[in-house]
Amino acid sequence: MRLVLLLLSLGFSAALTAQVTTEWKIIHAGTLLADAREAVSSEQSIIIRNNVIVQILDGYVTAADANIPSGARVIDLRNQFVMAGLIDSHTHILSQQEPNRREIAVTRTPEFSTLMGYEFGMRTLRAGFTSIRNVGGSRNAIFALRDAINQGVVMGPRIRAAGQGITPTGGHGDGGGFRDDVFPEPHSGVCDGVTECRKAVRTQVKFGADHIKYVATGGVLSQTATGTEQQFTDEEQIALVQAAHAMGRKVAAHAHGKAGMMAALHAGVDSIEHGSYLDEEVADLFVATGAYLVPTLIAGHTVERIATERPDFYIPAVRQKALEVGPIMRNALRIAYEKGVKIAYGTDAGVNDHGTNAYEAVLMNQTGVPARDILISATVNAADLMGIYDIAGTLEAGKDADIVAYDDNPLEELDTLLHPAFVMARGTEVDLDVPLPPDLFPWPEF
Ligand SMILES: [Zn+2]
Repeated sequence: MRLVLLLLSLGFSAALTAQVTTEWKIIHAGTLLADAREAVSSEQSIIIRNNVIVQILDGYVTAADANIPSGARVIDLRNQFVMAGLIDSHTHILSQQEPNRREIAVTRTPEFSTLMGYEFGMRTLRAGFTSIRNVGGSRNAIFALRDAINQGVVMGPRIRAAGQGITPTGGHGDGGGFRDDVFPEPHSGVCDGVTECRKAVRTQVKFGADHIKYVATGGVLSQTATGTEQQFTDEEQIALVQAAHAMGRKVAAHAHGKAGMMAALHAGVDSIEHGSYLDEEVADLFVATGAYLVPTLIAGHTVERIATERPDFYIPAVRQKALEVGPIMRNALRIAYEKGVKIAYGTDAGVNDHGTNAYEAVLMNQTGVPARDILISATVNAADLMGIYDIAGTLEAGKDADIVAYDDNPLEELDTLLHPAFVMARGTEVDLDVPLPPDLFPWPEF
C-alpha cells in the first residue's frame, strides 16, 4: 500500500491510464512550426492517439472531420506558437551544484540521486524539454530513472543515458582530492591504456548505456588542479571510440583544450561537449568529420558568475579554471557557427539549475546565432545526434507527441522560450503550475 501511494504521488496514475485506454486528442494550433527547418503554418490540427501523432490537418477540425471517436478532447492553442518539444543534449539530471559538494560526494546514495533525478526531470519537462541526453552520473541510478520513465512508472523527459562517464585515473570524473579509504575509486568508468579503456566502454554498454561519454581533457569542476588540456592519449581515445562504435553506441567527448579536441575528432567521436578552446583549425576538422559541437554556454556563464561573485564557493583550483574557461566558450561558438559546424543544443544542466535549460538559447542568440538555427539545434539536430529522429525532433505522423507551445513566436521573440505555455510529453500533458519546493541551492537567477 505504501508503495502504491508513493507511485501515485509520483504521477503513476496518469501514466497508467494512458496505457490501458485509447485516448484521442486534437490540438488546435494557431501557429505551427512542425519542422524547425521549414516555414510556419497557421490554423492547424494535430491528431494524437495515446502517445503518437496520427496526422496533422489544415484548419481547426472536429473529431468527426478527422474521422476519430467523438470523445476526443480538444486542446485550444489557437493563440499559441506550437512546435516540437525541445531537446537538451547535455545534462546531469541526478545532481545540481550545491555548496557542500565535497561532502555530498562521499555521503549521497545512488537511491537518493534517483529521486533527485525524478524531481530535476520534472523541472526540465516543465521548462519545455521533452528529451535529454544524460552524459555521466551514477550508473544504476540513471538507468533506473530512464527505464521507469520509459515504462510509464513515473513522468519525466525521455532520457538517453551514458552511465558512468569514462575518465583516466585522476582525470575529470575520477574522484580526486579524497583519501582512498574515504572514496574507494576506481569506479567502472576509470581506465588507463587501450585494453582497460575498451573494457570500460563495454562495461557501460553491458549495464545499459545508450551512448558513451568520455573526457578527452580536464574539466572545470573536478576538484583538482590538473588543467583543462588533453588527458586521455590519442591511442586511448581511438580505442574508446572503436569499442563504442563496434557496439552501435555513439560517443560524446568532453573537451576544452585544443589538442584534446583534435585527438577526439581524429578518433571519430560523434560530438564534442563544450569545445572551449575551439579555433578555425579545429572548426575545419569538425566540418570534415561531421561531428556535432554541443556548446553549453550556460555552464561557462554559471561557473564564471559563481567564481566571480562567490570567491569562497569553489576550491582555488576550480575557481581558477572557472574564470579561465567561462568567458571563452562564446568565442568558440561564434567561430564554429561561422564555419558551418553542426550544432546540437546542450546546457550541462546540473552545473546550471535544472529547469533553466532554455536560457542557453538566449546566450546562443547573444553570441550571434539566429533564432531559427537555435531552434534547429534544439530539435532536429539534437534528435539526430541522440539517434531519436525517428520519434522526436519534428512534429509529423508516426512520431511521439512531444509538443510545446509559447505565447509568442520564438523566431521573433526568443525570450518566450523561457516561459512555455504548454508542454506535452508522449501524449501526456504536463502540469506547469507546480510551485517549486524551496530550492536546494537557488543560484544563479536569470
Ligand atoms: Zn557535463
